[in-house]
Amino acid sequence: MDYEEGQHVQKPKYECLLLDVDDTLYAKSSGIAVECMKNIEEYMINKLGIVDNVRELCAKLYKEYGTTMAGLRAIGYNFDYDEYHSFVHGRLPYELLKPDPVLRNLLHSISIRKVIFSNADKKHVARVISRLGIEDCFDDSICFESLNPPAAKGVAKTEDQIKDDSHKPNPMLPSTPVICKPFEDAYEQAFKIANINPQKTIFFDDSIRNLQTAKSLGLHTVWVGSSQRTNGVDHALESIHNMKEALPELWEAIERDIMPCSEKVAVETYVGA
Ligand SMILES: [Mg+2]
Repeated sequence: MDYEEGQHVQKPKYECLLLDVDDTLYAKSSGIAVECMKNIEEYMINKLGIVDNVRELCAKLYKEYGTTMAGLRAIGYNFDYDEYHSFVHGRLPYELLKPDPVLRNLLHSISIRKVIFSNADKKHVARVISRLGIEDCFDDSICFESLNPPAAKGVAKTEDQIKDDSHKPNPMLPSTPVICKPFEDAYEQAFKIANINPQKTIFFDDSIRNLQTAKSLGLHTVWVGSSQRTNGVDHALESIHNMKEALPELWEAIERDIMPCSEKVAVETYVGA
């Protein structure tokens, strides 16, 4: 809790939890990521006619552009975003994901606002959170379509727009019209759409690149899937299930709020006697 100097007003440190979905709300070991990668490679071969070094290109584009899709658009491939998503995500074995009552209880017990922030399309996000049984735990959601509205689907930006893009990963690389994490403009749009104050928001993601941008923009950061803290990371959790042990402050506000004043006095008096 933060305390305002000279006043008795207590302000919560956080107003919002911002959460990635894939490999954050469920473990990477589920197998979904591997299947997703296979589908992307198949799309590149079967739909785009790429034949050479598909796996290497896929990994390189993911690394340089945040998503392989953003990279494919940058290097000149044009395709329908919905078709891409239904090929890559629509065929995933979602049955690998099981209901997670532990996570559901954790999320429901936190009283502050909870917002999803994913590079994936909204159908995929909806299917994942439904399989995990946590679809009623969130107040808002930022997905691919939130940042890349259908009006802009498959339409390349003008030269002037591309010159102004702040999500250009590297001045030596071609720019992408796709807006996605880890680039700053994705976060800035998400803050506007979901009315997020980054200084009062804690962001959970499994990608260190996503967390580093987040940290530079003022968000508090939690690396999920690792216990190693590093640059850009305020907290590191092996699993989202460990959030209560690592971040008790998310619950302290509730515990203070629900304890009546008279009870607080009684406890303090008893302890002091
Ligand atoms: Mg992720």
